[in-house]
Amino acid sequence: MKPIEHFRHCPRCGAPLQSFDKKPGSITCGSCAFVYFFNPSIAAAGIILRGDGKGLFIRRAKEPGKGMLAMPGGFIDFDETAENALRREIREEVGVELDGIRFLCSAVNHYAYKDVTYQVLDLFFTARVIEPAKASALDDVESVLWLDPHLLKPEELAFPSMRRALTEFLKP
Ligand SMILES: [Zn+2]
Repeated sequence: MKPIEHFRHCPRCGAPLQSFDKKPGSITCGSCAFVYFFNPSIAAAGIILRGDGKGLFIRRAKEPGKGMLAMPGGFIDFDETAENALRREIREEVGVELDGIRFLCSAVNHYAYKDVTYQVLDLFFTARVIEPAKASALDDVESVLWLDPHLLKPEELAFPSMRRALTEFLKP
């Protein structure tokens, strides 16, 4: 279910919600007129390259996509830029620092976590890793792999948004 479908009461005054807006992106409380807008969550992920052209991919330790390959990344915090979120997530997941961050493309993702399917906009970047030998499996990561992006099978990636980003990256 989408996040909006889990709301039964107004988050401000607690009155039961009678109906949702026709536009399925907000709720309006009939008692206090509070309007709550549902916007996509935003995540940042990277195709992180080392000198020989191989990219840093992770095998996911947790659902969704447990055991599948992914580009490292994660959700953007409040008051954080996408580039800083990418640096932070990659430090937390694989323990390396980045250089030369460039925007690649965005893609829509539906992220199913504990009975809620979040509407996500994934922002993809390319970057160079500063010290590739330091890469190791940390938070939520089963293992770290250096793979030639040209040889990677898109169906091995955990999310359709990542398959789209790989296609964009491989465009001549
Ligand atoms: Zn209310």
